[in-house]
Amino acid sequence: MQPIPIRTTVIGSYPFPGWLEFSTRHLSEFGPADIEEMVEDAVVAAVHDQVTAGLDVITDGEQTRLDFNLSFYGFLDGIEPNHAETRRFGPPAHDQRGRHSIVGELRAPRGLGVVAEFERLKRLAPAGPVLKASVPGPYTLSGRLLPGGLYRDRFEVTEALLPIVNREMHALVEAGCTEIAIDEPSMSCYAYKEDTRRFVDIFNRTVEGLAGRARITTHLCFGNFKGRPVGYRSLQPMLPDFLDMRVDEVHIEMANREFAELELLAPFAEAMDVAVGVIDVKNYYIETPEDVAERIRKCLRYVPAERLAVAPDCGLSQTARWAARRKLQHMVKGAQSVRP
Ligand SMILES: [Zn+2]
Repeated sequence: MQPIPIRTTVIGSYPFPGWLEFSTRHLSEFGPADIEEMVEDAVVAAVHDQVTAGLDVITDGEQTRLDFNLSFYGFLDGIEPNHAETRRFGPPAHDQRGRHSIVGELRAPRGLGVVAEFERLKRLAPAGPVLKASVPGPYTLSGRLLPGGLYRDRFEVTEALLPIVNREMHALVEAGCTEIAIDEPSMSCYAYKEDTRRFVDIFNRTVEGLAGRARITTHLCFGNFKGRPVGYRSLQPMLPDFLDMRVDEVHIEMANREFAELELLAPFAEAMDVAVGVIDVKNYYIETPEDVAERIRKCLRYVPAERLAVAPDCGLSQTARWAARRKLQHMVKGAQSVRP
């Protein structure tokens, strides 16, 4: 069980400052030392906003994952960018992101870069809040890799990535990380049409050897591409199989779904701690502390305070920083007002 009732936490990402986004379009003009300084300044800003809000758990805001080379795909051998089907114009959707072809064995000889991110966060964050690291789950990570070559389908790609993610998590624990989130939103998005037993088996092998060594959490949202969901937004298909995930805390998107199926949090709360999305990252209505308190009281009907954490629905990277900042501040105020 979690150490603080109605703990306040976040999902990994935080909006980039405008200057960082501008700089990512001109990276070739910067030297490696400039980029390191830039990333560090951005993490300082993200940490500042989260600490000022008073959160119990913070992240580095994923300020490092700027471009292909610095994202997870940049750490993988055996892939090449593939823009054969990329759409360049029109309303935002995933087909604007591009994919990767697999051209060899999938390997990550330098890991996925999350340990270096965690080391930086440790160096820059003040004492107090728990420092959480986020790794992509192998199934979600496989989503932008086109099966081919050695790997016939998405599940074979997933199997190749699974030990890479597991190794990264072990390395994080060895670096002193006490809380790790595995982002597996593809599992929640596709639970309605895929074999959920298979998902759980993949998940449990991804976290093998970690039980008791760090607090393991997972983020299961219904997608957020430039503020748009992509999933079939129901918890029903995840039940009961997802209750067998070996995880200390499950995070579930609720605010943007107007707290639909709230009662389905009860079976989750019997199996694990539940972090509920009480802040809508896709809406520019700024929840007041009173809104947050009311939402928390609703959740308490199904999840006891000692099992309940609150968070935004998803990472805040697609929400303007002025709104992200105020939403987090109000979330913490609301949670503190309800805490027993
Ligand atoms: Zn998400």
